[in-house]
Amino acid sequence: MITLKEALSLSKDELNKFKDELKAKIEARPELNAYIDIKSVGEGVPIAIKDNIQVKEWSVTSGSKILQGYIAPYNATVIEKMSEAGLSPFGRVNMDEFAMGSTTESSFYGKTQNPHNAECVPGGSSGGSAAAVGAGLAIAALGSDTGGSIRQPAAFCGIVGMKPTYGRVSRYGLGAYASSLDQIGPMTQNVEDAAILYDIISGSDKKDSTNAQKDDKVTPNLNGERKLTIATLPKYVENASQDVKNAYAKAIEALKAAGHTIVEKEMMDAKFDISAYYITATAEATTNLARYDGIRYGNRVEGKNLEETFINTRSEGFGDEVKRRILLGNFVLSSGYYEAYYVKAQKTRHIIKDEYAKIFEEVDLILSPVAPTVANKFGELENPMDMYLSDIYTISVNLAGLPALSLPIMKNADGMPVGLQLIASAYDEQTLFDGSLSLEKQINYKG
Ligand code: GLN
Repeated sequence: MITLKEALSLSKDELNKFKDELKAKIEARPELNAYIDIKSVGEGVPIAIKDNIQVKEWSVTSGSKILQGYIAPYNATVIEKMSEAGLSPFGRVNMDEFAMGSTTESSFYGKTQNPHNAECVPGGSSGGSAAAVGAGLAIAALGSDTGGSIRQPAAFCGIVGMKPTYGRVSRYGLGAYASSLDQIGPMTQNVEDAAILYDIISGSDKKDSTNAQKDDKVTPNLNGERKLTIATLPKYVENASQDVKNAYAKAIEALKAAGHTIVEKEMMDAKFDISAYYITATAEATTNLARYDGIRYGNRVEGKNLEETFINTRSEGFGDEVKRRILLGNFVLSSGYYEAYYVKAQKTRHIIKDEYAKIFEEVDLILSPVAPTVANKFGELENPMDMYLSDIYTISVNLAGLPALSLPIMKNADGMPVGLQLIASAYDEQTLFDGSLSLEKQINYKG
């Protein structure tokens, strides 16, 4: 597959020909189920769009039954920014319902296969984005990351996935899961393409009150030769599988060989991250999902009166995982439990943020696993708690609002990709991309 950088120099005729071929290739792989549908807007470079990002006049459903029939009335800001830069949305890609999950198994449209092994999940929630790029069925894709949903599927599918600093990319037109954690980001074949797409979609937007209103760009100064100080987390990695430990050791050697300075650091037990994240995320999700009442959006299941219509619509429209989180979110926000759970989670969130800030006083980047294992088989994370625990390495980054990039390091004995992430301090995407480029070059991963 051609890279985004290469595609940007194609003529209109070449692009149109490329799109026809791409469409045929996608249609030849229906079993992968990465795409929900293939539509195209304009004449730009085609980019696959996660089904929670609005493209005007396209169906947008966040992988849910409750939004069947809903048509986006306007473009998300990222789509506007893309079209100004000569990129155009091409196809809606699959995801876990309302971005809740780590496997893409909770989608209304059925599961998506991992391009490296049809019995394995592609990760989630941006599993369609990752599988499309990993299978050579997209030049690049947009995903969204609330607790790892860009980085983890990128790691499972052997591609690059980047979560920007909270506030860098406008959330206007993104279906909200947990508003204080959500960020849209690029999913690409390599680090340079991620930087290009990040530069295009990031920047100020008056329509998002949490936008940082910053417009500085990474690609003009992209420099894989910079020598950096990078923290490793030996204790943190102890709970990961042997595959991940092997990749971690390999990455440390590569970073040393590239001339970076490695220092060892520690972080508090990640079990606190899980609690703080699942309390915060479900509390916010409960509030965000209250709007799906059968009156304003999408699907309606009529009842005898208004209340029954709400109940019928939500009972039939939401899947099990979404219902579980609505219940949990209401519980942690209810009087009597608010102080004990929600307030405590916010305090923990601050401690995590401070902990990162302290490490970043001494280092430029942190090297961390993305997931504890390679991609699991379908149905393997049957117990929701097992699924939540698999997020331990990604969610603290969202709680602290930091930028992070997941890139492939190696394949295990079964040919499954193992990815790791670099984490930077807030708004230091420049260093994140510089360090990632250096590691990518030194590792020379072959997909
Ligand atoms: N797996 C996490 C969750 O289910 C993260 C999802 C995401 O980043 N959207 O909440």
